[in-house]
Amino acid sequence: MAEKNIVVLGAGFAGVAATRRLAKRFKKNHDVHITLIDRHSYMTYMTELHEVATDRVPLESVQYDLGRLFAHKKNVSLVTDNVTKVDHDKNVVTTEHGRYNYDYLILAMGAESNDFGTPGVKEHGFSLWSFEDAVKIKEHIKATVAAAALEHDEAKRKAMLTFVVVGGGFTGVETIGEMIDWRPILAKENKIDPSEITLILDEAVPTILNMLDRPDADLALRFMKKKGVDVRTSTPITEIGADYMTLKDGNHVPTHTVIWTAGLKANTDTSDFDMEQGRAGRLVTNEFMQSKQYANTYVAGDLSLNTNEGDRGTPQIVEAAEQTGNTAAEHIVATINGTTPKPLKSSYSGFVVSIGAHYSVANVFGSIHLSGWFGTIMKHMINLLYFFTTFAGYYIFQYSMHEFFRNRHGRNPFWGHISRYGNVLWSVPARIFYASMWLVDCWYKIQGSGSWFNGKLRLPFTWLYPKVTTSGASEAAGTAKKAVETAAAAPTNEFFSLSYDYGKQPMMIFKHLPSWYESVTKFFIPNKQTALFMQEFMTIVEIALAVCILLGLFTWLANAITIGLVVVFCLSGMFYWVNMWMPFMALALMNGSGRAFGLDFWVVPWLQKHLGHWWYGDLKSIYSKN
Ligand SMILES: Cc1cc2nc3c(=O)[nH]c(=O)nc-3n(C[C@H](O)[C@H](O)[C@H](O)COP(=O)(O)OP(=O)(O)OC[C@H]3O[C@@H](n4cnc5c(N)ncnc54)[C@H](O)[C@@H]3O)c2cc1C
Repeated sequence: MAEKNIVVLGAGFAGVAATRRLAKRFKKNHDVHITLIDRHSYMTYMTELHEVATDRVPLESVQYDLGRLFAHKKNVSLVTDNVTKVDHDKNVVTTEHGRYNYDYLILAMGAESNDFGTPGVKEHGFSLWSFEDAVKIKEHIKATVAAAALEHDEAKRKAMLTFVVVGGGFTGVETIGEMIDWRPILAKENKIDPSEITLILDEAVPTILNMLDRPDADLALRFMKKKGVDVRTSTPITEIGADYMTLKDGNHVPTHTVIWTAGLKANTDTSDFDMEQGRAGRLVTNEFMQSKQYANTYVAGDLSLNTNEGDRGTPQIVEAAEQTGNTAAEHIVATINGTTPKPLKSSYSGFVVSIGAHYSVANVFGSIHLSGWFGTIMKHMINLLYFFTTFAGYYIFQYSMHEFFRNRHGRNPFWGHISRYGNVLWSVPARIFYASMWLVDCWYKIQGSGSWFNGKLRLPFTWLYPKVTTSGASEAAGTAKKAVETAAAAPTNEFFSLSYDYGKQPMMIFKHLPSWYESVTKFFIPNKQTALFMQEFMTIVEIALAVCILLGLFTWLANAITIGLVVVFCLSGMFYWVNMWMPFMALALMNGSGRAFGLDFWVVPWLQKHLGHWWYGDLKSIYSKN
């Protein structure tokens, strides 16, 4: 087969889905090569842009490096460049810095904000449909509140502290929702009263969140009003100036910030690509997401308008982007392999609209309606599922860190309870104490009369000892029985306590092995030789763990293993209630305790750097094909 070049333009949800599908399908076909071109070296996780714009999460939390996403896809080349032209006659894509021949082309360059020609939006408004937009909004809001805090003119100060979001769709509602959470923080940081900050959500039509069922949308509306958002419906905007906006009803609202989320149109970079345009400039396709003019050209995601889905095409949402991307990819696969292609089969699981970090309204699978905290959890589960399905384990970790664990001002679903930037210095004494306790325990196991290394069986498993016969027990068997009884049988005066009581025996967690655990242990330790090996081996492991914890080396892992050991000791009938503090201590020490006066301070960053490099390759600001 002659070599085939497939070029994908745009690494958003649609472009990434299409590229992944192509890479998988042509994994073993070395004649097919895929090139993914985007102006960024990362995929922008668009659905969380409002969180960046409102300072809930750091900038990098929505930048998913393409090199990492495609680290092991050998048939994919990444290019970071701005696409300027497509020549359908010569089958060439031109970028600012190069030219790329293609046999098949997928356009997935997304959408952009549509101001419907409203005067002043371009000059004075803020759109929220790219990473750069989000950064601009965040910096503007921070600077404006800081300047307002020093403004003596009451009217000007009020205008500066009035923030308007235009558009009652999910982007607009999610943005104003985050502003609700940000308001008290901005106020505190700038020493002003939060009530001075006015939040307005403006919608031209009579209702908001029209993709949800009315009862769900009404819940969202009530929540926003309760939180002090001035929600205005049926109020189209006629003009935006540097310090005002005017409404169709004649109202004039002084404000320095209007965030425009009221509409979308196709990415205007594609407007001179000589392709048929439909509603809002979207590029028209058939049911295979194939251009009606050029058989080797496909359009996917927000940019596409599959007329088979009706006048409005597929909705401009993530699921549609992925499904259209996959359909385009599958059609190319079918064309190259000579198989029968399948048309787009749209199916949407629903919507989750978050209004700040703790409240969401969800309508999923048509029948599940959630609101409040459960809606928020659903949203996080959907995001995590996305990373799971794209096999982006690194980003599951990063997402969890940004959204749950390294999050400021309580802006996470648990009001900050699971997130704290703490000083781990205070856990250093606990770390040393805990490690010492394990070392003391091991000291008795390696020397003295109770040593585990002198060939005597110490494990209290009954099947390891010779059975005592009625005709007269041998001396060895008698000794073994005694050992087992001492270890496993309950002393008569045992007593439950988390401390020793003089003259009493501490109480074991499990006096006898649970039967399922006995079967497992019998399998792994069937006889005396194995048991002798295991007791010595386990002691060495314990010493190694204790030393690691003491030195703060792999502290998280070492403590996690000690928890596992405690569980094993409990089930084996070798652990007492008085030592129950140990697993809880280990849990506490897993909180980065080895980073303070411990080797993890150097070792973990070193490992992150080298393992990351080995697995993902270099992080680059610009990817290029050559
Ligand atoms: C704040 C916000 C919240 C949202 N919330 C949700 C939600 O909760 N659920 C949901 O389903 N959807 C949501 N969406 C919509 C969703 O993000 C989009 O539908 C989705 O991103 C569309 O994917 P796409 O691949 O078509 O386009 P995009 O994701 O926009 O990707 C387009 C890519 O093309 C690249 N590109 C553009 N022009 C060029 C050029 N000239 N040269 C090179 N590269 C170029 C861009 O850099 C970008 O990477 C939200 C969007 C926003 C902004």
